[in-house]
Amino acid sequence: MHELSIANELLNVVNENTPPGARVVSLSVQAGAMQAIDADALQFAWQAVTQDDSLEGSRLEVELLPWRLECDQCDRVWESPEAFEPCTCGNVRPKVTGSDELLLVSLDVEQPGEPTESLNHSQA
Ligand SMILES: [Zn+2]
Repeated sequence: MHELSIANELLNVVNENTPPGARVVSLSVQAGAMQAIDADALQFAWQAVTQDDSLEGSRLEVELLPWRLECDQCDRVWESPEAFEPCTCGNVRPKVTGSDELLLVSLDVEQPGEPTESLNHSQA
């Protein structure tokens, strides 16, 4: 499964960016259209690779980015849900630019000794 290798890749990136001892609460990623990610499948894969790991239960948000197209005849650059969309100038073969990114855009962690509000049961 394609998403499983992406989830593993993400896992490495998250581990590299998590301070020692901290617990990851949630993370959000942006994936370019060329990655051809199914967001539901990636959620499923994330749960699978984080099972029995310190990241188990962390929330993953996936934002799928549109294709970025560039016309070499009129220099127009635009975004489209389709990889093959003719340019408004009539050029039927605009180039795909980028669109292969996989970015960790945010990572929310909890430090031990700094309980969040919801964990604080001692207040009346
Ligand atoms: Zn054009």
